[in-house]
Amino acid sequence: MGEFPNVTVVTHPLVQHKLTLLRDRRTPTAQFRLLAREISLLMAYEVTRVLPLEDVTIETPLEAMSAPRLVGKKLCFVSILRAGNGILDGMLDLVPSARVGHIGLYRDPATLMPVEYYVKLPDDVSQRLAVVVDPMLATAHSACAAVVRLKQAGVTQISFTCLIAAPEGLRVFAAEHPDVPLFTAAIDRCLDEHGYIRPGLGDAGDRLYGTR
Ligand code: URA
Repeated sequence: MGEFPNVTVVTHPLVQHKLTLLRDRRTPTAQFRLLAREISLLMAYEVTRVLPLEDVTIETPLEAMSAPRLVGKKLCFVSILRAGNGILDGMLDLVPSARVGHIGLYRDPATLMPVEYYVKLPDDVSQRLAVVVDPMLATAHSACAAVVRLKQAGVTQISFTCLIAAPEGLRVFAAEHPDVPLFTAAIDRCLDEHGYIRPGLGDAGDRLYGTR
C-alpha cells in the first residue's frame, strides 16, 4: 500500500518527460503554460477512469448494437485560483462538456491559513464528480479548504489533482480527507521554510503567468 494509499502517481512516460521540462528553470512562460496544459490532459485521462458507464442501444451504419456511454451528470473541474487555471484548460481539452467551478483563497499573513475570497460553483455540483485542481500541493491548507467547501455544497464524490505534491501536504490531506483520492505526477522531497516544494518548479502561478 505504501505511505499514501489514496494517492495515485501518474507515471506515464509522457507525463514524466513533460514534467521534467516544466521544472527546468530555463523553460519560458509560453512553453511552461503549454506543457502544463498537456500534462493535465494526460492526468485527466487517469482521473476520469472512475466515471460510470451504462449500455445504450445505437445503430451503426451496419446494425444495431448495445454500446457504453457515460452515465448522467458527469464532471465538474474546480480550479483553486489562480494557478489551478493553468491545469484547467488541459482537462477541458479532454472533457469539453465538463462544468467548471472556481474557488479563490488567499493566505492570511498572520495565521498563514487560507481565507476564501471567491466561490462560484455550478448549481448542480452536488450531482457531479468534482475534480479539484491546483498544480502544487504544498502545505495542503488550500486543498483542504477547497474540499471542505465542496462538501458543504453537498458534493459526495471528490478527487484532487496536482502536478507535484510534498509529502508533508499529502499527510495533512490524507488525515483531513481520507475519502478523497489524490492524483499527482510526482511526490517531491520536502517543503522548505518558505513553503516551497523542493526540488519543485518554483512558484507555479508566476511561471504560468510571467508575473515574476
Ligand atoms: N506553490 C507553488 O507555486 N510552488 C511551491 O513550491 C509551493 C506552493
